[in-house]
Amino acid sequence: MTETLPALSQLPSPSSQRIALRLTKPAERALKQGHPWVFDQSITGQSREGSPGDLAVIFDDKRRFLAIGLYDPTSAIRARILQKGRQAVIDANWFEEKIKTAAGLRKPLDKQDTNGYRLVHGENDGLPGLVIDRYADTLVLKLYTPAWVPRLNDVTSALAAAQSFNHLILRLNRSLNKQTGHLHGLTDGMTLTPQTPEGLILFKENGITFECDPINGQKTGFFLDQRENRERVRTFSKGKSVLNVFSYTGGFSLYAADGGATEVVSVDFSAPATQAALRNIQHNQHRENIRNAKFETLDQDAFEALKQMKTQNRQFDVVILDPPMFAQNQSQIETALNAYRQLAHLGLGALKRGGILVQASCSSRVSADDFFSAIHQAAQESGRPLKEIERTGHAPDHPITYKEGAYLKCLFAAAP
Ligand code: SAH
Repeated sequence: MTETLPALSQLPSPSSQRIALRLTKPAERALKQGHPWVFDQSITGQSREGSPGDLAVIFDDKRRFLAIGLYDPTSAIRARILQKGRQAVIDANWFEEKIKTAAGLRKPLDKQDTNGYRLVHGENDGLPGLVIDRYADTLVLKLYTPAWVPRLNDVTSALAAAQSFNHLILRLNRSLNKQTGHLHGLTDGMTLTPQTPEGLILFKENGITFECDPINGQKTGFFLDQRENRERVRTFSKGKSVLNVFSYTGGFSLYAADGGATEVVSVDFSAPATQAALRNIQHNQHRENIRNAKFETLDQDAFEALKQMKTQNRQFDVVILDPPMFAQNQSQIETALNAYRQLAHLGLGALKRGGILVQASCSSRVSADDFFSAIHQAAQESGRPLKEIERTGHAPDHPITYKEGAYLKCLFAAAP
C-alpha cells in the first residue's frame, strides 16, 4: 500500500505552525517523569488557538524546550506527548521509526505460532491515542483522538514502509465516532486499502486458530491482551471441567480444551460472540484435544447463569471470570468493586472444592490492590479463603509505561 487512497486524500494537511505551551510546575514534573498527557487545566500559557492534530511545543519558564505533543482542543487531555527532551521533525519518517521499534518488541511472538497481536499500544509505544493490531495479513488502526486525523496520511505511509499487510481497517473509538466535524469523511470500520477483506479473518494465537471480525467485533475484533493468561489456563486444564464466564468468542475456552479439558462451558450474553465461539471450535478440529472436548455455550447474563449453576448444584474444576470494564470513571469505582465481589462469590459457588478461580479486571480506574482485596474479601465471606497461585497483567505486546496504562489484572487462586 503506497499510493494515497481516496479516503485519505480528502484529509486536511497537518498545520506547519506549532503552538507554544507553558505548564504548571506539577505538570512539568509529571512530563519530565514520562507521563504522556497534558491536561487542559495544567496549561498556564498558550501562543494561539489550535486545531486537532497541530503540534504543541512545550517550554519551561526559562524558555527551554521540554517536549512536543499532539494537540487536541476537543479533549481534557489537551496534548499527548510524542517527543521529549530534544527537538524532532514529526513526519512519516518519525512515525516509521516508532512503528519499527514497536514491531521489534513483538518479534518473539513469531516463534510462538502467533500472528494476532498488538503492534502498537498507544502511549506505551510512543504513539499516544493510536492502536494498531495485526490479525494475520490485516491491520486494524484504531484512533482515540481527532488529533490523528490530519496525520493519517503520514501514519499510513509509515506503516506501509515498516510492515507488510494486505488490508488496513480504520476503527474510531466511541467518542471520536461522534465528532463528525473533525473526521473529514472517515468512518468507523472503513477499509483504507483498495480491497475490503472477504469474510472473517482467521489468525493464530499460540497455535490455536481464531476468527475475528475487525469491522463489527468488540475492541478491534479480539481481546489480544489476555493471550498470556489464556496460555496459563491451557497449562493446568488437563482432565478438568471448565466454566468460562464472559467468554466472548471463546478465547479461554479453546485454550482450556487444547490443554486437555474434558468439558468446557462458555457463557456470554452476546449471541454473535457465542456463535463465533462455536465456529472457533470448528476451526480447530485438527487439534485432537479440542476435537475430543465437550463444549456447551450459553447465551445468558453471567450473573443469572452463575446463580442457576448454584441452584442446579453444577460445579467445575476451573472457573474463569473475565468481565467487561465495570468503572468508566472515578464515581463508579465502589460499584465496580461490589460487582467484582459479587462475581467472586457467585464464581466460587460454581467452583468445586480444590478448584482454581481465575478472575480478571480491565477497569483501569480500579487499582490492582483494591481489586485483589475485593476478591479475597468475597472469598473469606463465602467461607473459602483463597490461596493465591499468581497475580498477572498484560501480555508483552501490551507494554505499560505509565500508571493509567496498567488496566488489566488477573488473579489465579486455589479455593478450598
Ligand atoms: N474473555 C474474553 C473477553 C471478554 S470481554 C476473551 O478472552 O476473549 C467481556 C465479554 O463479556 C463480552 O463478550 C461481552 O459480550 C460480555 N458481557 C458483558 N456483560 C455481560 C453480562 N452481564 N453477561 C454475560 N456476558 C456479558
